[in-house]
Amino acid sequence: MTIKQNVSQILDELPASVQLVAAAKTREPQEILEAVEAGVRVVGENYVQEAEKAYQVVGDRVEWHFIGHLQKNKVKKAVDIFDMIETVDSIEIAAEIDKRCARAGKTMPVLIEINSGREEQKAGVYPEDAERLIREIATLKNIRVMGLMTMGPLIGQTEDSRPYFQETRSVFERIKESNLPNMEMKYLSMGMTDSYRIALEEGANVIRIGSRIFGERAQG
Ligand SMILES: *Cc1c(COP(=O)(O)O)cnc(C)c1O
Repeated sequence: MTIKQNVSQILDELPASVQLVAAAKTREPQEILEAVEAGVRVVGENYVQEAEKAYQVVGDRVEWHFIGHLQKNKVKKAVDIFDMIETVDSIEIAAEIDKRCARAGKTMPVLIEINSGREEQKAGVYPEDAERLIREIATLKNIRVMGLMTMGPLIGQTEDSRPYFQETRSVFERIKESNLPNMEMKYLSMGMTDSYRIALEEGANVIRIGSRIFGERAQG
């Protein structure tokens, strides 16, 4: 199967209300371009440096989502390239994004990353801490919370991811109803190659797919 065929198949399968993010880490710009030519509208990157390289080839014809762990010293460049940052999990990183956006004269849509597996070493806030973080971010003028993102633990069977998606969904619904200022609970980003069908059943409207588009990644 070619990248083109993979993208067509996935797009055929998705309801129009669901956004496909092509998770492009470790892929060459040419591979990303092939996916874009097949209909991908959003590219997800984990590393700012890789994104810069890909951006030079693919450019503004797609939206760029940052889906990796963002370091403070990379925020300035990230603000230049990305249209959304899906992985905000602290007020410190939010404040840095806000500061850089204010200087650049833009407002960054962000998602709050939820550590739904409550894994100590993982990025994201615990589900019960999401609302407090969103209230803090609401005071920042150049950043706008647009939803939630989660990875979930990577171990186990596909079906094992369901409870993590369910919990993230319930946080999403609860915060949506709380009508906090400067926030819109619009996007729920969950599900990857092995889990996106379950994520869709549990209410995801953004899915992030790598291997099923580009093939298996080399280890390392
Ligand atoms: C790599 C990655 C994906 C896609 O993973 P696949 O299993 O290759 O589909 C999705 N989200 C994030 C944050 C990733 O780092």
